[in-house]
Amino acid sequence: MAETSPIATYFMLLLVFLSRLVSTLGKPKPRTQLLPPKLQNRLLADPDSIELASSDYGNMFREIPASVLYPSSINDIESLIKFSHNNSAPFTIAARGQGHSVRGQAMARNGVVVNMPSLKNQRNGFGITVSTNLSMGFFYADVGGEQLWIDVLHATLEHGLAPVSWTDYLYLTVGGTLSNAGISGQTFRYGPQISKVYEMDVITGIGDFVTCSPEKNKKLFYAVLGGLGQFGIIVRARIALEPAPKRVKWVRMLYNDFDAFTRDQERLISINGRKQKNSLDYLEGLLLMNQEVAKFYDDQTLNSVDKDLQDLFEGLSFIPGFTFDKDVSYVDFLNRVRSGELKLQSQGLWDVPHPWLNLFVPKSQISDFNSVVFKEIVLKRNITSGLVLVYPMNRNKWDDRMSAVIPDEDVFYTVGFLHSSGFNDWQALDVQNKDILQLCYNAGIEVKQYLPNYKTMEEWKNHFGMKWRTFQERKAQFDPKMILSPGQRIFNNN
Ligand SMILES: Cc1cc2nc3c(=O)[nH]c(=O)nc-3n(C[C@H](O)[C@H](O)[C@H](O)COP(=O)(O)OP(=O)(O)OC[C@H]3O[C@@H](n4cnc5c(N)ncnc54)[C@H](O)[C@@H]3O)c2cc1C
Repeated sequence: MAETSPIATYFMLLLVFLSRLVSTLGKPKPRTQLLPPKLQNRLLADPDSIELASSDYGNMFREIPASVLYPSSINDIESLIKFSHNNSAPFTIAARGQGHSVRGQAMARNGVVVNMPSLKNQRNGFGITVSTNLSMGFFYADVGGEQLWIDVLHATLEHGLAPVSWTDYLYLTVGGTLSNAGISGQTFRYGPQISKVYEMDVITGIGDFVTCSPEKNKKLFYAVLGGLGQFGIIVRARIALEPAPKRVKWVRMLYNDFDAFTRDQERLISINGRKQKNSLDYLEGLLLMNQEVAKFYDDQTLNSVDKDLQDLFEGLSFIPGFTFDKDVSYVDFLNRVRSGELKLQSQGLWDVPHPWLNLFVPKSQISDFNSVVFKEIVLKRNITSGLVLVYPMNRNKWDDRMSAVIPDEDVFYTVGFLHSSGFNDWQALDVQNKDILQLCYNAGIEVKQYLPNYKTMEEWKNHFGMKWRTFQERKAQFDPKMILSPGQRIFNNN
């Protein structure tokens, strides 16, 4: 974290950065003579740019970059990476989507942050293009890595289509969520967002523009998906689409018994076939202890949807008389978090610290997790300053060749402590996060972090487990000078 004022630091570090660039050419020269001419107007270091690039949704950490690239084309990104890679003193580069990370993952101390949204309205960018091959029943959208999922939703709905796998919140970039996994209550049935990508264009850490897919340059394809921005910048992703549902039956049930709550969740996600009519489309759980589920429907299923839901609910153990249901449009359902965001923004409560902790917990240990963490820490300390999500997913909807890390069990839970706090007391929640991890460790509960945050190489090795060697080899191949996404603090300790 910066102790000095942002502006003073910016000047100081800008000098450091320039001196690194010029030192490679022997005698000092102005920056403009060193960088590719076409980048000169696009690389800014004014206070607003530096402020944006050194902050994120977490509001807890700051890393001051030397400058910010506002690319006008994919080519600008290529040139920047090539320039760094070919320099004897390479500088770090981080793509920044919306900066919705919480621990500086999209920052680059002394390096260059690439402001991805600049590509959004550029003629040379990829934008969002929907392709339909009706005879083969094959639909997809080619989407720039900088695009927001909400825009992908609106563009695809114009064709009656939509991606099938979503995050809860849609104002995230495609490149940002594909670098993690992209999960929500649909994942149990449709897989994470990374499992719904046919092809990508990526600019590697060498500065090469590479098209990759499961058939072509597959090593890069699997590396990048869930790859925490370590292997390349995603500039286009081809996303699978399906006919969009029209409406949603959305039901919330209350529970007073954790075991019954998880038993019901596991039962409901076990019905998950793609063609299975009698399956839910979405399931999430919240502490204390309500579960919400949703089923999509349209004109063809209008008359059967209630009966299908009743059948699914038969034998479940929620508290009778405490179910709440809504009938909403598909868009309102997918965009459900937005109204909450706008309300918090209007109250000045959106831009506060967010010491979030997201964990994947193996199904066989969720009951221990309840005893050790929920009962011992969360309930006793009574620090509940935000939502706590608890819901299961199926491992067979994930592809293990990808970089994303999940527990080695057929079913595992995501537990998300989505804390908000005041500016002076986020450390208490962070201490609680550390205690949670320590208690899990002591109790032998093998959690994996989602949106991981570690400080040492040892911790990263432990996180990746069997995948660590492959992850390292891929890094050596695609970003040998360890330029990209230093804010993840894996190879290049930011
Ligand atoms: C309110 C809120 C709700 C959320 N809900 C969910 C949810 O439901 N499900 C879920 O899975 N996640 C969720 N997230 C987490 C979100 O997926 C991550 O923050 C993710 O990083 C996307 O945010 P972003 O697009 O702003 O990426 P950034 O934070 O800008 O970047 C994240 C990382 O990806 C790298 N990166 C960014 N763009 C690219 C690119 N084009 N190519 C390669 N690397 C890139 C960055 O360098 C950085 O390391 C939520 C976050 C917030 C703040």
